[in-house]
Amino acid sequence: MITEISDKLYRITLPMPFRLRHVHAYALTDGGNVAFFDTGMLMPGAYEKLAADLQSVGHGVESVSDIYLTHVHTDHCGMSEMIQKKSNARLHLSEEAHQVHTHFQQGEHLIAQARFFYARHGVPAHDVDAIIEEVEDMRSRIPQLDVTTFLQDQEVRRFGNRSFEVIFTPGHAAGHVCFFFREEGLLLAGDHILPYIAPSLNPNIHDDIFQPLKSYLESLAVVEKLP
Ligand SMILES: [Zn+2]
Repeated sequence: MITEISDKLYRITLPMPFRLRHVHAYALTDGGNVAFFDTGMLMPGAYEKLAADLQSVGHGVESVSDIYLTHVHTDHCGMSEMIQKKSNARLHLSEEAHQVHTHFQQGEHLIAQARFFYARHGVPAHDVDAIIEEVEDMRSRIPQLDVTTFLQDQEVRRFGNRSFEVIFTPGHAAGHVCFFFREEGLLLAGDHILPYIAPSLNPNIHDDIFQPLKSYLESLAVVEKLP
């Protein structure tokens, strides 16, 4: 399903296997170009749905020129590799999110690190096993990211005649960002703000200093002040 939520800014509802059942990607068009904000999850039928929805408003995937990611969870960045392959789109995310992604690709080292991290923080062995299973599953879905630029906190990015601000909002994930269209009062919030529920808060197993709850509350305060 594709919905125009603001002038030439579309919300695309895509399938997801987890409890929430769906995830949103956003497409902003300018003339013949398209910018994506998050890309949905790579799973059977999802890419075809994304392509068909985009086609229904007159654009092919090959016209995607830029992809902006809020964070690198698989339901938000999963199809970025596929879109980049079809379009050579530039890819933008925070440097911290890129580091999280790099760590995720470290195979056995990642698993050993995750076991060590959760055990050290007092998680019972059978729960650690369940977490590792989830990590393995995510690892199998994570795309290759061909990064063009790193997003900076509070910078203004332009796409065609539109501009939006990058707001760092760590908490749900290290390196999470939101995109704020000030003129329209519109926030693309990734998983920072969700309907009905608070987001899960994920530790960074490679960074003991990162405090998800503290960061999340600080990030909420930043977003709360937006006009
Ligand atoms: Zn997420």
